[in-house]
Amino acid sequence: MVPFFDVSRAQAPILDDLRAAFERVLLGGAHILGPDVAAFEKEWAAYVGVEHAVGVSSGSDSLLAALMALGVGPGDEVLVPAFTFFSTAGSVYRTGAKPVFVDIDPDTLLMDVPAALRQRTAATRAIIPVHLFGQMVDVDPLLEAGLTVVEDAAQAHGSVDGKGRKAGSAGHVGCFSFFPTKPLGTVGDAGAVTTRDAALAQRTRLVRQHGSHPKFHHEIMGGNFRIDTLHAALLRAKLPHLDAGGDARRAVAAQYREELAPCLERGDVRLPALAAGRHVYHQHVIRAERRDALLAALGKQGIGAAVYYPEPLHVQPCFRELGCGPGDCPNAEAACLDSLALPCFPGLTSAEVSEVTGAIRAFYGA
Ligand SMILES: *Cc1c(COP(=O)(O)O)cnc(C)c1O
Repeated sequence: MVPFFDVSRAQAPILDDLRAAFERVLLGGAHILGPDVAAFEKEWAAYVGVEHAVGVSSGSDSLLAALMALGVGPGDEVLVPAFTFFSTAGSVYRTGAKPVFVDIDPDTLLMDVPAALRQRTAATRAIIPVHLFGQMVDVDPLLEAGLTVVEDAAQAHGSVDGKGRKAGSAGHVGCFSFFPTKPLGTVGDAGAVTTRDAALAQRTRLVRQHGSHPKFHHEIMGGNFRIDTLHAALLRAKLPHLDAGGDARRAVAAQYREELAPCLERGDVRLPALAAGRHVYHQHVIRAERRDALLAALGKQGIGAAVYYPEPLHVQPCFRELGCGPGDCPNAEAACLDSLALPCFPGLTSAEVSEVTGAIRAFYGA
């Protein structure tokens, strides 16, 4: 039995710190925003390497709030990859702007940057490169082209690009999720927006509170995108362990690469190409021949594995009116058919990784 993910293993060793954070919130008076949120925002901005961080209610809301703060809306187009979690595109759609789906690079599975530049039009207002599975898109060609770059860094806390920039600091705005399974996660939903731009940070703070300033006076449109104090307090306790978590995930990835060598040589299993920089392996995704049969075989042995993602975004029924269909993003469609995420989290033991690789090798007779 190997779980796909077990959040308790990374939390058990720091239980005292988490308990102290919990108590501080219970006895501190603030339950929404407040001093722990202000302190976490400072600490998160410093970690990412930007001047400003704004805590929000989720990763999805970080994207929506950033786009609203940028003034994205009806008539605008925003370039997004077709192979990502839903909210990358859903957030665009909710502003009234049009998500324009870009195919992925078949090797790295990251947004195909040259294709994105070709799909740019006069209406293109921004682009959302997604640092998918924990490795960063090189945003320089996008910046050089003059595009407003909103990084979806929801899977890439602590990831670094080829030029040493942390995820969330390379573009104009960074969007993070602190969903429990993300590289930095809390015990519920939370997120953050990061930026160097003081005016944009200020607008994001307004958007987070219904565009209200002073209270009950609304200059711009916003929503309730506030972060709960408890999440900020717990995230402050977990942040010092984030880089060790990345090291642990990279060690798991190295063991997979080594022990799956026979399958890699035969071509039964392929690994996505490594982009320049530091991968944090939010998901450890392989490309597998007979993926669904392998998934079923692993399931029978009590080994957790999961498909990220089974369907690309450009064919989702909710985006029907955009007129995209099968064949429009062939690399994304192909990835949906053979991608499989294996267990990869801090606290996963080397014996458990060997159990997974043993089962995969047995499946392929390798
Ligand atoms: C998790 C995730 C989000 C959304 O974050 P939530 O906190 O779940 O709303 C957005 N984009 C990507 C790529 C994600 O993986």
